[in-house]
Amino acid sequence: MEEIILSLFWGVYGIIIGSFLNVVVYRVPRGESIVRPRSHCTLCNHTLKAWEVIPIFSFFILRGRCHQCGAKISWRYPGVEFLTGLLFYLWSWYHPEESLAVLWTHFIIIAILLALALIDYDTFRLPDVLTFPLLLLGIGTAFVLPMGITGWESLASAVGAGSLFALIAKLYPQGMGLGDVKLIAGIGSFLGFPNILLALFIASLVGSIVGILWIMIHQKEFKAQIPFGPFLVLGAYVALFMGDELIRVYFTLF
Ligand SMILES: [Zn+2]
Repeated sequence: MEEIILSLFWGVYGIIIGSFLNVVVYRVPRGESIVRPRSHCTLCNHTLKAWEVIPIFSFFILRGRCHQCGAKISWRYPGVEFLTGLLFYLWSWYHPEESLAVLWTHFIIIAILLALALIDYDTFRLPDVLTFPLLLLGIGTAFVLPMGITGWESLASAVGAGSLFALIAKLYPQGMGLGDVKLIAGIGSFLGFPNILLALFIASLVGSIVGILWIMIHQKEFKAQIPFGPFLVLGAYVALFMGDELIRVYFTLF
């Protein structure tokens, strides 16, 4: 019972972080500050009052429209808030043994990944201000906290996966950019081997399936019209949440 209440608490915490991620995803690609000015309607510039920025609830109270000018608010805002809450809830539920420092590190990793997936989807870019902190956080915490892998494993996995994909990006520049390479190094820094390979496998597999479907639906050539970042993040989430189980099952097949 106590565990459920604690996980629900972290879920609510995730919903609030998700609300902040919406701001990050909107403002970082535009080069705007994430603290100032206060949240405002992007159409009429009306500064949002406290009751208009309550995560999830305000969207429903406002019936998905700006209180001032009636502009439609995207479903994505409450969606991101709910998803962040759900991910934090599930993570804390599956890892009740984690200390606060380890738990928060995982929350930050989950949050940065989600922001990167959305920004890449919107703008085809993976900003350094998010990929580098992810990489440094992954390596740094592996050295000082019980993150499941040692600092050296983290470093080796980040450098190994990063340099392999730097080479691929060099040989096949239309397939992926340097942003993807930095993200892969960042993901490697907290997954370690062999989980990073699982993440890359899932990302490539799902990315190829979606790419083929895209060509079939649009009846034209595939020219990197689909960003790779969201698939990398999907792979990273699967490997982070259930990588050990999946790898164990895989090896029992032989
Ligand atoms: Zn408005």
